[in-house]
Amino acid sequence: MNKIVIIGAGQAAIWTAKTLRSEGYEGSITIIGDEDYAFYERPPLSKQVLLGNATYESLKIFKDEVVDELDIELLAPVKVTQIDRQSKNIFTNNDQYIAYDKLLIATGSKAKIPVKEWALHSNIVSLRNIEDSLLIAEKLKHAKKVGVVGGGWIGLEVAASLSERDIDVTVYEMNDRLCTRSVSKEVSEYLLNLHQAHGTKIRLPFDQIDLNQSDETQSVHIKINNDDNDVDTYDFVLLGTGAHINKEIAEISGLETRDGIIVDEYCQTSDPDVYAAGDVAIHPGLGFCIQSWSNAQNQGIIAAKSMLSLGVPYNDIPWLWSDQYDKNIQILGSSVGIENYQLVIRKDPENNDCFFYLDDEQKLRYLVAVNNNKIVKMAKRWMKAALPLDPNVLKDNSFNLMKIKPK
Ligand SMILES: Cc1cc2nc3c(=O)[nH]c(=O)nc-3n(C[C@H](O)[C@H](O)[C@H](O)COP(=O)(O)OP(=O)(O)OC[C@H]3O[C@@H](n4cnc5c(N)ncnc54)[C@H](O)[C@@H]3O)c2cc1C
Repeated sequence: MNKIVIIGAGQAAIWTAKTLRSEGYEGSITIIGDEDYAFYERPPLSKQVLLGNATYESLKIFKDEVVDELDIELLAPVKVTQIDRQSKNIFTNNDQYIAYDKLLIATGSKAKIPVKEWALHSNIVSLRNIEDSLLIAEKLKHAKKVGVVGGGWIGLEVAASLSERDIDVTVYEMNDRLCTRSVSKEVSEYLLNLHQAHGTKIRLPFDQIDLNQSDETQSVHIKINNDDNDVDTYDFVLLGTGAHINKEIAEISGLETRDGIIVDEYCQTSDPDVYAAGDVAIHPGLGFCIQSWSNAQNQGIIAAKSMLSLGVPYNDIPWLWSDQYDKNIQILGSSVGIENYQLVIRKDPENNDCFFYLDDEQKLRYLVAVNNNKIVKMAKRWMKAALPLDPNVLKDNSFNLMKIKPK
């Protein structure tokens, strides 16, 4: 094997390339990415970039010298349009055919826009890449009032960043609570209180939302439930309405897919020479795509090792974080089945609460922790060791949880 091709030039891609080299692979690595920019961190796009504290240079995952040493052939901006698995070639939108011995699909996801026409308006924007973020940062120089549609993690992070810039922000969420898909109602309520305490307005729930950009003023009107008396006007509107997994090239090339690309714990798809990692790959243990920074990095590492037949299975506990105002919110585990778990809340006088979800054997299955990195690290060990936990101890804020050490 001496030709490895990677589709997508994001987080999973660069970690695959880095691991291939550190494990001694000496063949060619070609990475094809459809953005003008490559190998940068996305988490700051909804935070530091909007606060004016980060640029593309500061977002690079690795320093230029490190990337240069990897000896990658980077083709960008170039889009892969097809994979011919029989001849083991990929085709691009600039008519290149590139042969591979092993292929990694690391195409990530893109912002979901619920109404096609919304994408046609200059002041209705979404956020997935650095160009989106820089465009929003530019708009913020003149904006006083911004609407955010979608009360999920990205919508809330943007709302927090804007509110820190003293911009009048309103979040519109169609469900009756925030982040419905990933947290229970107690955490949704925590988030609601957090945002309201910082002056962010939250409108929820509603059945219908209409967005229209005025030809005259270029401002955007948001109308709720078709009610002409419930219309508000914004300098621009950010859509935080979910993500669409970029699985199309896998689908048309006949690989097994569902909501994302199906892979085993070695990141191998239904074709033994094709791998997938990051947002686009379905987590083998959980059955859905995990869209998180650590998942993209760690699956990238596993995919590289599998290509080199070093066979390390991927069994990471899902972990992600969100920064909103002065709160670092970390989420560990899977929220699937959360309604059947016992919730134990460890209240904190500084509003840095921890929400533990225990199964019927009192083992920790899910955790949402605010400003508490130590507990998250320890909780990872409890989860790995499947340690039963005493709810009374967890909720006792005077007890040092670091004392509960798994064997
Ligand atoms: C605004 C924002 C904030 C986030 N904040 C957090 C956070 O706080 N914590 C956290 O854990 N996670 C966060 N994430 C999620 C995390 O950044 C992603 O899960 C991670 O970047 C996924 O990496 P990836 O390599 O799978 O995909 P990406 O990094 O998206 O890279 C995929 C690349 O492939 C390209 N591509 C797609 N199709 C093709 C094609 N056909 N041909 C060529 N190239 C193609 C895409 O354009 C993209 O450049 C955030 C994401 C965003 C967008």
